[in-house]
Amino acid sequence: MRSESMGTVRRILCVFPRYTPSFGTFEYAYPLAGVQAFMPPQGILLIAAYMPADWPVRFIDENIRPASKEDFEWAEAVFVSGMHIQRQQMNDICRRAHAFDLAVAIGGPSVSACPDYYPSFDYLHVGELGDATDDLIARLARDPSRPERQVVLKTADRLDMTKFPIPAYELAEIKHYFLGSIQYSSGCPYQCEFCDIPGLYGRNPRLKTPQQITAELDKLLECGIMGSVYFVDDNFIGNRKAALDLLPHLIEWQKRTGFVLRFSCEATLNIAKRPEILSQMREAMFETIFCGIETPDPVALKAMKKDHNMMVPIMEAIHTLNSFGMEVVSGIILGLDTDKPETGQHLLEFIDASQIPLLTINLLQALPQTPLWDRLKKEGRLIEDEGRDSNVDFRLPYDDVVTSWRACMGSAYEPAKLLQRYEYQIRETYSKRLNMRTPQQATWSNIKLGLTMLRNIFWKVGVLGDYKWHFWKFALRRLARGQIEYLISSMLVAHHLIMFARDASRGRQNASNYSIRLREASVPAE
Ligand code: SF4
Repeated sequence: MRSESMGTVRRILCVFPRYTPSFGTFEYAYPLAGVQAFMPPQGILLIAAYMPADWPVRFIDENIRPASKEDFEWAEAVFVSGMHIQRQQMNDICRRAHAFDLAVAIGGPSVSACPDYYPSFDYLHVGELGDATDDLIARLARDPSRPERQVVLKTADRLDMTKFPIPAYELAEIKHYFLGSIQYSSGCPYQCEFCDIPGLYGRNPRLKTPQQITAELDKLLECGIMGSVYFVDDNFIGNRKAALDLLPHLIEWQKRTGFVLRFSCEATLNIAKRPEILSQMREAMFETIFCGIETPDPVALKAMKKDHNMMVPIMEAIHTLNSFGMEVVSGIILGLDTDKPETGQHLLEFIDASQIPLLTINLLQALPQTPLWDRLKKEGRLIEDEGRDSNVDFRLPYDDVVTSWRACMGSAYEPAKLLQRYEYQIRETYSKRLNMRTPQQATWSNIKLGLTMLRNIFWKVGVLGDYKWHFWKFALRRLARGQIEYLISSMLVAHHLIMFARDASRGRQNASNYSIRLREASVPAE
């Protein structure tokens, strides 16, 4: 559903800020995949779709190109949305829009948690889509000029997710993204100490209907999506019944469209206790699950209130997911209060034993509106210093923790070790996947895309790369076994991990996805 027509027409420019390069956004894979950005941003495309039908909306993702002078001259108001990591870039967009005397509104998770971060914006939209959004639209309809002082609009009455319009995917250049994105639910029933999801989105997951999801998938296909679509839900099994309701529809959709897409999602590791969910996920072609394992140390899991990770022994849970054809991607945190000097070494042993190729290893960061933030504030252990990689005063010396992080990154992503883990996944996990070959997959555009990626991989890694001998050992086995698809998918990710980890181990990358240490220069105003 859209907002109602207001009788006046306003031109709205929606700008999504650039990401600071991070481990989880795969920048090094883009030249190989021929794309320019990570995923279409759900939040701001949803807001774009919610605007009154007669309001022209333009969407710019600054990860693809900066908003231009012409964009700002066209607009009557500017909307911005993003996460903490994009804070500097959001403030920069505001500055550029003000140079054109435009009113600028900001929404999304960062401003909802920390309105104080954004003193220059004209409108702060705090909370989710709802009455605050309607109020903002009504105010702009009455008068699009900049208000005299900042106006803060807080959502008290959230729009039911079953009434959400389909995000305006048609405004995004879908083919320029590494992954597609979609959202079925919002919120998570758990309360891990470091996580801001329950505080921001609630503990009782809210849901769209399965029909909304299949309609969104249809639209993504129309917009040219190929490859993989990521369910950005905070926890895909936050409501297990809802997951079970959705999966038959996804399977049906895949059958109807010829299994043209692969899915991935985030879920708690206790999904391993639900074979009835896992077998349907396999049928729907879920191929990757991101699990916040955080640490293999049970004492640490208990301390951070993530006991649910121990409902099944961690290694057993990983093998169970692998047995349903799903590769596990793991979040890992270093710098926990329970860490010891040998924690880094234990992590490397865990990586060897689990054979997980991709682990996002971050330093602990205290996010506002989390129990961790409250505890550390009480203990006087929050440090606001933009020169640091974390705002936490660790129990271990800061330099030791950062050195341990760099050493883990350097070791875990040595090309030989990483490609050996992919070798294991191909043998033990990918072989369990549904092997669907349909005519719809063999379109000319798919074949052309595959050939282009293969050429890029051979040239940029196999010829120009500096780990080419490891690459060719891995690649020749794939070629001999006809595993071209696995060669492409593994190398896109592996190349990013190897290059990013190399920078990280030399101190050229942030140690936290959420780090306030913002290294990038802002996008220059045009
Ligand atoms: S399970 Fe995941 S989403 Fe839920 S509270 Fe814990 S970290 Fe956050």
